[in-house]
Amino acid sequence: MEFCPECGAMLLPNDNKLECNCGYKKDLASDNKEYSVSQKLNEKQGVVDMGEAIDLRSKVNEICPECGNKEAYYELKQTRSADEAPTRFFECASCGHKWRDYD
Ligand SMILES: [Zn+2]
Ligand SMILES: [Zn+2]
Repeated sequence: MEFCPECGAMLLPNDNKLECNCGYKKDLASDNKEYSVSQKLNEKQGVVDMGEAIDLRSKVNEICPECGNKEAYYELKQTRSADEAPTRFFECASCGHKWRDYD
């Protein structure tokens, strides 16, 4: 509560001012700072598991015993125990014949 410095009467609020009956007016300091709190929501996009099967087979120059085609898919497969050497499989790129490489 404030009083008029001129006459000592109580100042009456009027809009953004304090007024006195004697005519004194005092501007109210606009110290109403608005705090705008912007909260950003960082939505982390979940890692999409595509479940993409990677074809590890690579084409090699291997003669198909079935049709004589010179291109075959090469694939390594670990069998049973990890101690054993992985078995090499071939699949003919032409006729689809499959065979394994016996070493
Ligand atoms: Zn006054
Ligand atoms: Zn073949």
